[in-house]
Amino acid sequence: ATPMSIMTATGRGAQAGVLIKDAEALERMARVDTLIVDKTGTLTEGRPKLTDVVAFAGAGEDEVLAIAASLEAGSEHPLAEAIVGGAVARGLKPPKAGDFDAVTGKGVTGTVDGAKASLGNAALMQSVGIDHAGADEAADRLRADGKTVMYVASGTRLLGLVAVADPVKASTSDAIKALHALGLRVIMATGDNELTARAVAGRLGIDEVHAGILPEDKKALVDRLQAEGRKVAMAGDGVNDAPALAAAEVGIAMGTGADVAVESAGITLLSGDLTGIVRARRLSKATLRNIR
Ligand code: ADP
Ligand code: MG
Repeated sequence: ATPMSIMTATGRGAQAGVLIKDAEALERMARVDTLIVDKTGTLTEGRPKLTDVVAFAGAGEDEVLAIAASLEAGSEHPLAEAIVGGAVARGLKPPKAGDFDAVTGKGVTGTVDGAKASLGNAALMQSVGIDHAGADEAADRLRADGKTVMYVASGTRLLGLVAVADPVKASTSDAIKALHALGLRVIMATGDNELTARAVAGRLGIDEVHAGILPEDKKALVDRLQAEGRKVAMAGDGVNDAPALAAAEVGIAMGTGADVAVESAGITLLSGDLTGIVRARRLSKATLRNIR
């Protein structure tokens, strides 16, 4: 591409909040065939809301939710906000938890009313030695609706489940159709459960799902797809995403995310949805067409 056509494209991108670092990033964006995106906050609003509380073993729903909210009071995870907000909306006053501990990609633990309590996914239940098999049918029904389900345990007992739903952004569905029309295969990467991830992906026509992955495993996913011969663009926002962004043909950072993600990226989107990626792809294709 000529310096002039590159300047025109980067200028038009910048006006639309799509910051393209250099000519190389623009040219590479035209050549990628695969796009990896995060579920939470990229495809979805990233503001989950509490939808269901299920109680087992003689516990009450309010007891289950109060324990969950006690544990989440100390967490900054978007799921925590949904659970604490749900408890407040039901007029509950969760007791204060002690010994709070956040387990990345798994959940939270602490002491509530003198008992060891925990809230999180199946991996967390395994690590604290709680058998959750009896709850899995109920959990899977909620997951099939695209909800994220967390187990709530106190002492040695599984007390119940809480579920949250994170609405898909209004722009996501059309953006995925446009990305397909522009020749990209779209892959969802998420730490969420496989069933939940597949339910959301199915509604959106996403081509491939990698669920249950820890943030630090995203670079391995990029490496693996590239070893299979794919040319991968990877969109992400977290500190943990930086290695994956740097390993991809094109790293796409959300401007709302961590500085280190922006530094590792060839393209930065000022607003964190897929529309900016559609625009970047169109600009890059148009610029490369001009050289031929
Ligand atoms: P995502 O890829 O959707 O951002 P995370 O890697 O942050 O997901 O978390 C993966 C899973 O771990 C969540 O779906 C949830 O089940 C569990 N989890 C993580 N943090 C918390 C928390 N603070 N409270 C409850 N569950 C949590
Ligand atoms: Mg996350």
